[in-house]
Amino acid sequence: MKQTPVLEGAFVSDPEPALVGSRCRTCETVAFPASFTCPNPRCAQKDVVATPISRTGRLASWTTVHFPPPPPFVAPDPFEPITVVEVEFASEGIQVVGPLAGASAEGLRMGMAMETVVEPYYSDDSGEVIGWKFRPAEGDADG
Ligand SMILES: [Zn+2]
Repeated sequence: MKQTPVLEGAFVSDPEPALVGSRCRTCETVAFPASFTCPNPRCAQKDVVATPISRTGRLASWTTVHFPPPPPFVAPDPFEPITVVEVEFASEGIQVVGPLAGASAEGLRMGMAMETVVEPYYSDDSGEVIGWKFRPAEGDADG
């Protein structure tokens, strides 16, 4: 089945699933999704390069959504509640939101290690759309 990334260049699957952001060559500010310029207002150079994000971070927040989000989100019909988590990547100084994978919200606790996975978001006639999700990780966070 044909697989299309939900956001081109935002993640890799090989050799392991990881997000890809941008890093400023001057001030080291990291952005996700990747930015074409440095988001730091005090930075003079603004020269950014693609950078891999740590595979694991820490759970900073989560919520369970009981109604379908608006487009471009493609909701299954009938809609099933989904849990969305916010993961802090301390080494990069960013937080990233994504769907929860491989667990239910009842098992979550603040600060637990979460790892990045790449899984299908939905499928349609043209194939699967894949994107990043976060699942509880074995062991500790990278950063
Ligand atoms: Zn900068």
